[in-house]
Amino acid sequence: MNSPFSPLLIAGPCSAESREQVLATAAGLAEMDIAYFRAGIWKPRTQPGAFEGVGRTGLPWLSEVKERHGLKVCTEVANAQHVEDALKAGIDMLWIGARTTTNPFQVQDIADSLAGVDVPVAIKNPTHPDLALWLGAFERLEGAGIKDLMAIHRGFAVHGQKKFRNAPLWQIPIDFRNRLPHIPLINDPSHICGNRALLAGVSQMAMDLAFDGLMVETHPDPDAAWTDAAQQLTPEAFRAMCNGLVMRKAGDAAGVDDLTALRTEINMIDDALIELFARRMGISEKIGQYKKANGLTILQNKRWSDLLKRNVEQGAAQGVDPGFMAEIYKSIHQASIAIQRGIMHRDGHSAE
Ligand code: PEP
Ligand code: MN
Repeated sequence: MNSPFSPLLIAGPCSAESREQVLATAAGLAEMDIAYFRAGIWKPRTQPGAFEGVGRTGLPWLSEVKERHGLKVCTEVANAQHVEDALKAGIDMLWIGARTTTNPFQVQDIADSLAGVDVPVAIKNPTHPDLALWLGAFERLEGAGIKDLMAIHRGFAVHGQKKFRNAPLWQIPIDFRNRLPHIPLINDPSHICGNRALLAGVSQMAMDLAFDGLMVETHPDPDAAWTDAAQQLTPEAFRAMCNGLVMRKAGDAAGVDDLTALRTEINMIDDALIELFARRMGISEKIGQYKKANGLTILQNKRWSDLLKRNVEQGAAQGVDPGFMAEIYKSIHQASIAIQRGIMHRDGHSAE
């Protein structure tokens, strides 16, 4: 990292799989200046029957990482029993996972189990884009007297999202920062990307937005990982990625320059628009094939006038200028027609 500002780094495997795998990962990270070694031992899985973590069997492996390498260690807790087991084992930091943050009962149970305990806790954003719910989890932990809190931005489940596993929706962590500027904000590019090829770009974006650190999943043999194989990096690749990050000085007291934040949001919206345009054109193409097969004209005027009317009205209801909406839709319609004419043309049925 070519800068005087070093991000707080948390690294380690998605899941602790075996003592050997945990120790091999830690050995690969030991020379780096990481703040915490991570490993999930209780894993929340979408489907039952998937590997749900080694459970408390893994706790002594984390103690061994502490002893051998002097690294602080952290793991995910999702209930009071996990908290008790983790604290007994001397885990240095606990994190609340995205699925848990969505459930205020669970967050409150964890908060209650931590009353009077002095341990750092990181809270991941909830799986869906709900800033208030994320902030609420902080209130619950603060209410229990936890002073050392961190936020982890791991992206959001958004229907239709293609490029990322979880859409970053950068404006949400930016809004978070403005609401709780004293809480360190860490980016988790691993769960945003779901794919290691995208990690460096997202990590750099986080640094450009003055995040305080990164949590990155690392594994000695990523492709063989029992969970999240596609997104993990070897410790060596993680080091190389960190060395490639360009660090800049945060501009203002809040850590985020307003114009940069707004431009970033525009870029994200444009990415989403482009993805939607591509999907829409793909469907136009299928409709073109259907029209060709059924001898229908490209222009179905009733459909077109209904669509235009509907979308101009929908736009107006949300404050978008009707003239602008009409222009946009005429332009989209022209592009669809061009695609459908291409289909007819290609197959020798053009009117030309
Ligand atoms: C994890 O960190 O391995 C994890 C399960 O993350 P999240 O809660 O962000 O899905
Ligand atoms: Mn994971």
